[in-house]
Amino acid sequence: MLHKFGGCLAIIYLSSFIVHHVETRNIRSEKSDAAAQCGYTSCHPTKPNMLNVHIVAHTHDDVGWLKTVDQYYYGSETLIQKAGVQYIIDSVVESLLKDPNRRFIYVESAFFFKWWKEQTKEQQDNVKMLVNEGRLEFIGGAWSMNDEATTHYQSVIDQFAWGLRQLNDTFGQCGRPRIGWQIDPFGHSREMASIFAQMGFDGMFFGRLDYQDKDERLMTQKAEMIWHGSANLDEKADLFTGALYNNYQAPAGFCFDILCADQPIIDGKHSPDNNVKERVDTFLDYVKAQSNYYRTNNIIITMGGDFTYQAAQVYYKNLDKLIRYANERQANGSNINLLYSTPSCYLKSLHDAGISWPTKSDDFFPYASDPHSYWTGYFTSRPTLKRFERDGNHFLQACKQLSALAPKRSAEFDPHLNFMRETMGIMQHHDAVTGTEKQKVALDYAKRMSVALRACSTNIRSVLNQLSISSDRVSPQPTKFEFKTCTLLNISSCATSELNDRFALTLYNPLAHSTNEYVRVPVTDYKYVVIDPTGKSLSTQVVPVPKAVTNLQHRNSSAQYELIFLASNLPAVGYKTYYIEKSDSIPVSGKPSPSPRKKSSYTVIGNKNIKLTFDTNGFLVYVTADGMTRPISQEFLYYIAATGNNEEFLNRSSGAYIFRPDKNQIRFATDEVSIEVYKGQLVQEVHQQFNSWISQVVRVYKQSNHAEFEWLVGPIPIKDNIGKEVISRFTSDIKSDSIFYTDSNGREMLKRRRNHRETWNVKIHESVAGNYYPVTTKIALEDDTARMAILTDRAQGGSSLEDGVLELMVHRRLLHDDAFGVGEALNETEYGEGLIARGKHHFFVGKSLQRPEVSLKAIERLVQLETLLPSWKFFSNVSYSSDQWLTAFTNTYNGISAALPKYVHLLSLEPWHEKELLVRFEHILEKTDDTRHPQYVQFNIKDVLSAFNIENIRETTLDGNAWLDEHRRMEFVPDPEDEAYNNYGTFKKSSKAVHLLSAEKPMLETRYSKETLEAGQLGAESNRIKRSADSRHFTIHRRRPQETSSDDLKKSMPSSEREKYLIELSPMEIRTFIVYLEK
Ligand SMILES: [Zn+2]
Repeated sequence: MLHKFGGCLAIIYLSSFIVHHVETRNIRSEKSDAAAQCGYTSCHPTKPNMLNVHIVAHTHDDVGWLKTVDQYYYGSETLIQKAGVQYIIDSVVESLLKDPNRRFIYVESAFFFKWWKEQTKEQQDNVKMLVNEGRLEFIGGAWSMNDEATTHYQSVIDQFAWGLRQLNDTFGQCGRPRIGWQIDPFGHSREMASIFAQMGFDGMFFGRLDYQDKDERLMTQKAEMIWHGSANLDEKADLFTGALYNNYQAPAGFCFDILCADQPIIDGKHSPDNNVKERVDTFLDYVKAQSNYYRTNNIIITMGGDFTYQAAQVYYKNLDKLIRYANERQANGSNINLLYSTPSCYLKSLHDAGISWPTKSDDFFPYASDPHSYWTGYFTSRPTLKRFERDGNHFLQACKQLSALAPKRSAEFDPHLNFMRETMGIMQHHDAVTGTEKQKVALDYAKRMSVALRACSTNIRSVLNQLSISSDRVSPQPTKFEFKTCTLLNISSCATSELNDRFALTLYNPLAHSTNEYVRVPVTDYKYVVIDPTGKSLSTQVVPVPKAVTNLQHRNSSAQYELIFLASNLPAVGYKTYYIEKSDSIPVSGKPSPSPRKKSSYTVIGNKNIKLTFDTNGFLVYVTADGMTRPISQEFLYYIAATGNNEEFLNRSSGAYIFRPDKNQIRFATDEVSIEVYKGQLVQEVHQQFNSWISQVVRVYKQSNHAEFEWLVGPIPIKDNIGKEVISRFTSDIKSDSIFYTDSNGREMLKRRRNHRETWNVKIHESVAGNYYPVTTKIALEDDTARMAILTDRAQGGSSLEDGVLELMVHRRLLHDDAFGVGEALNETEYGEGLIARGKHHFFVGKSLQRPEVSLKAIERLVQLETLLPSWKFFSNVSYSSDQWLTAFTNTYNGISAALPKYVHLLSLEPWHEKELLVRFEHILEKTDDTRHPQYVQFNIKDVLSAFNIENIRETTLDGNAWLDEHRRMEFVPDPEDEAYNNYGTFKKSSKAVHLLSAEKPMLETRYSKETLEAGQLGAESNRIKRSADSRHFTIHRRRPQETSSDDLKKSMPSSEREKYLIELSPMEIRTFIVYLEK
């Protein structure tokens, strides 16, 4: 939080207005911080010689699922689900105020701040007191509890940054969560662990893991562990992680909520129903059993569930009694101690136990809850919502950057941007982007997204107009440009380009590198000129819109062609505007028509880098790249979805969560593909029609190093009453030996081995679904000579079920529910028919090793960025001639002045508090992506951000809400026998189990004494400088400022201003800074 940075610092570095602003937040928080007893210091004491049972009262409030966000908040639609979050927080606060012994945790910031804004000052002060005394504790704290399979790391970091910032601004230090709480997401990614660690979290607890994995971990006391979150970032990505015993529910029989039917504790002395003895006996038996599976004399008992505590006094009254009556037995020799606790107090107890812990280096995917229920369907469910979410991230980044770059900011900028931030936060929820919500809720999410896009569009329109129109050059003042987004470009439809004979196209590049991009514009004719900002007329090509698109019945567009040109050197974090005009002259290439093709001969498209050969049946058969020609085919198939009554495991249906092909049956979409071929000077395309509902365009642009497969699938036919799950399959001769790779949330790649898990001997009863993994951006395989990789444009499920073969599930339409709560079949329709989805696969093949200059993996990383954040197209109607247009407007704009090193990504550039920017830089290569590339890169932040008047910078944790050099994390000691095996893929089972309450428990030395813990000085320095010899040269720039006051800060400033702004990054490292701007 900024207050903990110290008020003096703010006064020195911020303007008077800002000082006032910051002080308002600071003073309150400094005062409250001074009296605060929150966090680890507010934990109820445990008893050293007893089993301490940490009772954690909590509610799990989905930010949309069966009901919309607002329906959940206000508690409407009670017939769908009796759930009203406003009542929960109301009643919890009331119950907490009644008794200082009680504790509660709250997780979802989206709901909390909706409630907070409605409260009186008096009630807000009450809540602040509860927070400052550690009675109400925020855990997790992101805008929503994000999914971990289908989310992109950029959006995960964004939604944590925003939630934690609200907590920080409102509550200061005591509002900062220390613990991740991912109790409901359906499997867990390694990148999420890394992100938590980099945000400075001390640990994370979750509920769901594979049922076999869970059994094994419990039996060997390995449900709590140190998770190595990164293969590149060393211990700074390590996270203490615990799998909860009973998901996140109360022990059976002990849900005291009004939503449950369990018996209350009846303690009337003479009541015939008095059940104190029986209830306490049962509870103590339960906790004794649970304790056998965990290593210390502490266990955590979650007391809550979905939308529990709407009448909190019911739960609390019974918990009070349970704790009282159980602890009364201590007088008679019981060694069990119940206490109100929180996940952070529980974690502190684990830390204080001073023992060692097992380690883990892979992830928790896929999640199976029983032998026939692999939660791998949601990797693909609702493909168009998944794509829309990714568009949302793309637009949010553009909106943040342009809002930061605005010469003049208007008052509505922040509310618009914040609305978009919050909407994207909601989209990350584990029932939003996952596609596991009811249809009505999915529509609500899409509607929210579209409103948010419109809000941010007004910021962008204002900024682009400010940047484009220099008043001294035009008189009279021109009308403002529209800078419209055409949201239907994926079906080649755009009113501005279709209805106007001349228009301007502004390409905004959100990457911090200049890029070259082939641009496609829907047009009604084939005769156009494209003029770049220097007045040069560019070469163009016109390609017909595929028939499968023009035939779409609901497509309301007269565009029959796409106009293509190469936009070169698009400025980093900047734009170029192109002037496009209908012309009378017929282009050299003439009217576009398909290349003549003999039915008996093969078809080849491509360029000098990559060539694709199609056989006489229209299927891809060979790919030539890097001097090799390999047999590689691509086709569409679909699985037959299993159906059943879900009453026993064997009768599980495929559904929104579950992928379960019926006896693994798969069908080819067709055995013959009709094709048309278009070849021109910019692109060569094959338009394939597989059947009446699957088509595809395969293309290679002139300068490209890969091929694009633009698929169009739907409406998936269901007249045969069979649900279908459609895949695109690439088959090669690469000897991948059961190994393939999938990304973790778009960042590091994880090694997968077919029919295998890294940490236990898995028995897979669903050989297809059980080998599916989330593909957020990339799937790949290779052998010693060749490599094949596919980038996706949204999250999809994928696998390699045979050596050399990759498949990605692109769409699914199902007729049965899978009985995990959503209560609907995943049968998406639009315009009265099955939903049609369209998307792109970027396909790479080449030498796996010994490529000249740069590795294929490194090239893939760059294209991955360009796929995530291509230029955003803004269309404007223009009334000027091209000459007027050229002289009157600023048609090229560069937001940063020096490009970043090639593999450094400007992950964030956004306005933060007044006169502050939040910026993040990321090294996008892994250590092994290209060993010829220097492992450490450096650049000067002032050179890069010279558009801003920078007064100072300071590094923060990944979320941007705590100073990195002041932040401390708890450290945990790994089991000695595990440490030797923490390299990925070489896991060896620990030989020794540690027994609970045993005198022989290994008591390793802990780094921190209890006294320092109590003084709130937890953990060791989270980012100890540790470099191998070859990096010594750079270590000077790694120096973290040690200042705690403004005077110290001045003293410790590097003598050279330049050196202060020199940033160095190692592979996969992200560094986050607050940049203070001059007044
Ligand atoms: Zn949930």
